Amino acid sequence: MGAWPLRYQEPLFRPPSEADALILQVTVGCSWNRCTFCGMYRNKSYRVRPFAELEGEIAAVARLGWAPQRVFLADGDALAAPAEFLAEVLEAIRVHLPGVQRVGVYGDSRAILRLGAAGLARLKDLGLGIVYFGVESGDDATLRAVRKGATAARQLEACRAVAEAGVKLSVMVLLGLAGVEGSRRHAEATGRFLAAASPTYAAALTYTPVPGTELGAQVRKGTFVLPDRWGMLQELAWMLQAMPDYRGPFFANHASSYLPLKLRLPRDREGALELLAEVLARRDERLLVPEWARGL
Ligand code: SF4
Repeated sequence: MGAWPLRYQEPLFRPPSEADALILQVTVGCSWNRCTFCGMYRNKSYRVRPFAELEGEIAAVARLGWAPQRVFLADGDALAAPAEFLAEVLEAIRVHLPGVQRVGVYGDSRAILRLGAAGLARLKDLGLGIVYFGVESGDDATLRAVRKGATAARQLEACRAVAEAGVKLSVMVLLGLAGVEGSRRHAEATGRFLAAASPTYAAALTYTPVPGTELGAQVRKGTFVLPDRWGMLQELAWMLQAMPDYRGPFFANHASSYLPLKLRLPRDREGALELLAEVLARRDERLLVPEWARGL
């Protein structure tokens, strides 16, 4: 086996469902990098890597005989790179790695709306198969407070552009993001948002304070009070209650979850709400994933 052909500037993140994908770091960092809860790319200055370098890496992977079926384009919002550059990268993947069936990427509302449905459809023709979009909340006050840089309406427009382009859309939201104070408002608005956005997949992750971030510091100082484990599950219940018409897979089984649930809605909605009601009534710690076993 030859030398590892890909150059990475760590840390590197990818969605859990892209565990088997070849990760190609087409951009470094996040072009926004201002969300108060996010520490993923704090130590990186955003830049788009030279195409020639990436093409060399893709060709080297092919020479080694690797035949990935999936490729994930990192970092934070690689979709924010220029459209022509993304098209060239997708074309290079198609030429050198013809076995690739799906290319995935993180994208936020700015990047999605800059491309628009037409721009995304062009990338789809070149192999883009799925966009992972961290919506975080459907509540404007929460989005403002965490400096997401977009309103719920803009984020909804972005979801619709991805759907119109025929690209799969995976939306992530964050339980706990409005603290105890805004908990119910955030949960219900987010449930309504998901029902309106109708993504291919939706996932509710549980916010966990990250050292070195603004929101992490507020939690430490006590100026932001995070719901406890029961409060997080209550939020999940409020969210599910607010999305009776949602159709599709809904995951609350991320490593950060206190009670992993993998649902197909609306089929599993009533059962999940009953389970959550029971767990919330019993408040028995043994029913939850212990703190030490939670991944972040
Ligand atoms: S949450 Fe997403 S958009 Fe916000 S700073 Fe982190 S990577 Fe960038």
